[in-house]
Amino acid sequence: MTEPIPDETRGETHDETHDEAHGGALASRLNWLRAAVLGANDGIVSTAGLVVGVAGATDDRSTLLTAGLAGLLSGSMSMAAGEYVSVSTQRDSEKAALALERRELREQPQAELEELTELLEERGLSREVAREAAQQLTERDALRAHARVELGIDPDELTNPWHAAWASFFAFTVGALLPLLAIVLPAVAWRLPVTVVSVLAALVATGWGSARLGAARPAPAVLRNVAGGALAMAVTYGAGVLLGAVGV
Ligand SMILES: [Zn+2]
Repeated sequence: MTEPIPDETRGETHDETHDEAHGGALASRLNWLRAAVLGANDGIVSTAGLVVGVAGATDDRSTLLTAGLAGLLSGSMSMAAGEYVSVSTQRDSEKAALALERRELREQPQAELEELTELLEERGLSREVAREAAQQLTERDALRAHARVELGIDPDELTNPWHAAWASFFAFTVGALLPLLAIVLPAVAWRLPVTVVSVLAALVATGWGSARLGAARPAPAVLRNVAGGALAMAVTYGAGVLLGAVGV
């Protein structure tokens, strides 16, 4: 741990820290984008399954519209509520961790300086450089330094639960609108083909998009996504036809 590090390695360490800061911001933007694509995907699949199922049982347009709209609203609100709860909980635990850190910094600044020094050493700095860096970071903004190095969070960029909730609501709604419009707009004979084709095409796009944003291979993601959506529509359509046939 206390071994001195050669100069050239020290230079690289600085560059890595620099890249990491940019990488972090980019990663968080990509995460948001990916969450939006996945939210839209949920809206597409769940609403498509719903309206195709109802279309298996009835030709009545206003029934289809009512079912589709109810599905859109309940899905988007449940996504938003779920996101709100999960982000709030995460934020609460981050705030609690920051409060504890703040207290520790106030009550035992010397131990905290030593802790920060050791954490920086673990990241590859020599003892002296780590101590110097820890001192500078502590003078500038001790809480922020500990939040970043020790807790891995940025105290200025805690996720807002309302933003997360609205984003999910919006993403799901945009996705759900596609099967809803595809089933109610065309003439009766065209409803199913138009809905199935447009839904599968959209699932190709969202599968490809989420794979690319997650730096995964697109082909398997597209296949899984399209297969999942096709299965959902097949199952609910089968159920709708059965229920329609027995006159429930
Ligand atoms: Zn600390």
